[in-house]
Amino acid sequence: MVHQRAAFEDLQQHADFIARHIGPAEPEKKQMLTALGFESMDAFIRKVVPASILSEQPLDLGTPRSEAEVLEELRGIASRNKVFKSLIGMGYYDTHTPPVILRNLLENPAWYTAYTPYQPEISQGRLEALLNFQTMIADLTGLEIANASLLDEATAAAEAMTFCQRVAKSKAKAFFVSKDCLPQTIDVVRTRAEPIGVEVVVGDHRTDLEGLDCFGVLLQYPTVDGEIHDYKDIVARAHDKGALVVVAADLLALTLLTPPGEFGADVAIGSAQRFGVPLGYGGPHAAYFATRDANKRVMPGRVVGVSIDSHGDKAYRLALQTREQHIRREKATSNVCTAQVLLANIASMYAVYHGPQGLQTIARRVHRVAAALAEGLRRLDCEVRNASFFDTFVVRVSDAAKVHQGARAIGINLREIDASHVGISVDETTTPALVEALWGVFAAGKAAPSFAAVEAEAADRLPAGLARRSAYLTHPVFNTHHSETEMLRYLRKLSDKDLALDRTMIPLGSCTMKLNATTEMIPVTWKEFGGIHPFAPLDQAQGYQQLIVELEHMLVACTGYDAVSLQPNAGSQGEYAGLLAIRGYHASRGEGHRNICLIPSSAHGTNPATAHMAGMQVVVVGCDDSGNVDVADLRAKAEKHSKVLAAIMITYPSTHGVFEEAVGEICEIVHSHGGQVYIDGANMNAMVGLCQPGKFGGDVSHLNLHKTFCIPHGGGGPGVGPIGVRSHLAPFLPGHRMMEKQSAPVCAAPWGSASILPISWTYIRMMGRQGLKQASEMAILNANYVAKRLADHYPILYAGEGGLVAHECIVDLRPLKDTGVTVDDVAKRLMDFGFHAPTMSFPVPGTLMIEPTESESKEELDRFCEAMIAIRDEIRAIERGELKAEDSPLRHAPHTAMAITGEWNHSYSREQAVFPVKSLRQAKYWPPVGRVDNVYGDRNVVCSCPPMSDYE
Ligand SMILES: *Cc1c(COP(=O)(O)O)cnc(C)c1O
Repeated sequence: MVHQRAAFEDLQQHADFIARHIGPAEPEKKQMLTALGFESMDAFIRKVVPASILSEQPLDLGTPRSEAEVLEELRGIASRNKVFKSLIGMGYYDTHTPPVILRNLLENPAWYTAYTPYQPEISQGRLEALLNFQTMIADLTGLEIANASLLDEATAAAEAMTFCQRVAKSKAKAFFVSKDCLPQTIDVVRTRAEPIGVEVVVGDHRTDLEGLDCFGVLLQYPTVDGEIHDYKDIVARAHDKGALVVVAADLLALTLLTPPGEFGADVAIGSAQRFGVPLGYGGPHAAYFATRDANKRVMPGRVVGVSIDSHGDKAYRLALQTREQHIRREKATSNVCTAQVLLANIASMYAVYHGPQGLQTIARRVHRVAAALAEGLRRLDCEVRNASFFDTFVVRVSDAAKVHQGARAIGINLREIDASHVGISVDETTTPALVEALWGVFAAGKAAPSFAAVEAEAADRLPAGLARRSAYLTHPVFNTHHSETEMLRYLRKLSDKDLALDRTMIPLGSCTMKLNATTEMIPVTWKEFGGIHPFAPLDQAQGYQQLIVELEHMLVACTGYDAVSLQPNAGSQGEYAGLLAIRGYHASRGEGHRNICLIPSSAHGTNPATAHMAGMQVVVVGCDDSGNVDVADLRAKAEKHSKVLAAIMITYPSTHGVFEEAVGEICEIVHSHGGQVYIDGANMNAMVGLCQPGKFGGDVSHLNLHKTFCIPHGGGGPGVGPIGVRSHLAPFLPGHRMMEKQSAPVCAAPWGSASILPISWTYIRMMGRQGLKQASEMAILNANYVAKRLADHYPILYAGEGGLVAHECIVDLRPLKDTGVTVDDVAKRLMDFGFHAPTMSFPVPGTLMIEPTESESKEELDRFCEAMIAIRDEIRAIERGELKAEDSPLRHAPHTAMAITGEWNHSYSREQAVFPVKSLRQAKYWPPVGRVDNVYGDRNVVCSCPPMSDYE
């Protein structure tokens, strides 16, 4: 081989991340453009994106950087975070993530690149892990049913408030919140209550409930100060009023304390963070919600249930309102869509690994450390204010500032209360040495005692009357996988059942399942990002602050808006924060009466659900035959509601996957009637570097960093849903009591799910302005290539001018209805080919929406198209009368290994069933269950681990 001398520039290219992120290389790109009849990418893009919005300016971002360079730069930023021991508590506790879970779940793409388990047959692994989560929560809280999961403890409390309003007998207007709840929880509950006219009464549960007419009560157990109250009488009195009681409870404490369900609580909520999930400067963490069985149909969030498959064998799936949520729109029980699946799974595996004895041992140890710490302080003449506690107490001191200063000098953060009190929370990572060091701070010159001596004499501080007597986690799953070998294999066994991005493309329209690069993921588990408490002093989080400011600038550059808030921890929360900003803006101009929100019929289900939560009334705007917003209908409705028009929520490019030409006109109409324009930015993957919602008429948008900006979906969360706003809305962005900006928060933590922000920062840095633009172009090219290849076999709905689509395309299956073949049949048959189905029946019933993203190579696109075409041939066989739909490989899909053994009495062959194309012989994914029966599951709702006898 002869080595040509290459320019250094070209050698450097090899370190280029862009070509790693974007699937098709230059020759494939040319082939696809040629297939579509275009000479160049530029000519193609000019045909797709309307000239009126196409921006000619390059993004105001840096040039592309290599993976190595960016990691190096991020190392420098991370090193500006100082990892102290945070004994601040307030809902966040340090924890040991078991390394077997860290590497094989949190850092494992088989788990983190999966999608929400809407297709149950290819999701049995994560569904089982989530069922374990629900079982764990139900057991620990003493309630009957739990969901999986909510976004954080504070939003779970807010969800519980509206839940009580729906369920309680009392029709009072007030919701009582104990002043001993976590302050950020109280703030978020207040935010949520205001637009829907609920009056929040904060007070002392012992005195202020008397005579108060309320529909619900929120209590903290143990309280923010660590006190453990017996709430039995309070619950009884609340029930007498027709009110429901919500208890925000600490899961670790519940291993030792009487659970809320046993003292009459109707709902328990809280965080599962301390079960192995790093602090991460506030998130992401899973919140839980548990209640009584009778309330299961009005519970917010997703619930995993047990059903049967086509062979009558047990199979898991999402149950009940999970599916209804998108249909129920403004009548939905909540707007939560993306939840915290990955974090719920970490927490559930923490319980699987430790088991009930292990958890109790951890809790006992935490309590003994706290009891010893308090006893030592007493001996140093410090007054511990608590009558009882589990892991948290308050100490009276003469000069709190001095104590904090002394603690920080040895790398410890305590909770700031006031000038004469400090709070201390210990956790499973607190060592005797740390306790002794802390005594030194309080000793003020006196000799500090030794831990062993004090601990031996320290009494327990748990109230005897509230000791837990009931068993929990008795199911075998929590009593089997306690050796690392067993745990490793359990994790592997579950992930092997699932299809995630590490095996196949996941062409889900509107969900943007693109590459989650390893380089982007690596920083997430650095301790400089994982080990920071959300309420740590700012000077310890300078790395985070730099990263946050830089990411905000990057997103401003991408969207054309003026300001960004990173606080919302999912798209749904971004929508909510955005509508609140609109609401605040109208109110500030004396137009608080504006409450109509126009929403096209094609909108994502979260849009109307969010508008409802923001106290707005939804007016639906129709769509025309080509899927665009019906401008005449919009004009009529805007005119009709002119005086009270608050906003329009549109998705761009439309949910139909088209760059609507009329978007400028739509924005103008709404503005001319005094309304604001909310552009749902879930489809930003078609726009970055090409056009900017902040420049073509939007006032506010949310982005989904877990779609466009490479945060993995985690099997259904985490996510980040930042909002961008034009300057007039900037004063109404969410704030937090721990931020400079103190306005109403929408989430528990000031910067939401901060620990996953490095993913998006890294992506943008590596791609630079050129790479981001190329990614959008390729996403659009890939979608059009798929549309073109499938067009001879299936009608493609809603092409824009020139017959082209945006970054996704809708395949219409309705014309095939006469054959008896359904969308479900096609979706499930794709599993036999090893593919995840596209988005089903959204935004149009009877269709599949395909979004390939820029990360898929032409080879993978062809493999997918060939599967779709092979399926079409099977449908043609039905059309020709050679097959009956009821006895076709479509109807019986997916085919398990079991299904093709034994007697075979179908009119198609076993080979046709499981090896419909040759390439599958070498690499076959076997669905672990046959088609799951939804109706059976909803009739016989079981939402915790079934007894082992069911498996026999
Ligand atoms: C994904 C999506 C949302 C909701 O985002 P979540 O993070 O799941 O809450 C809203 N609108 C559209 C169009 C989406 O695709």
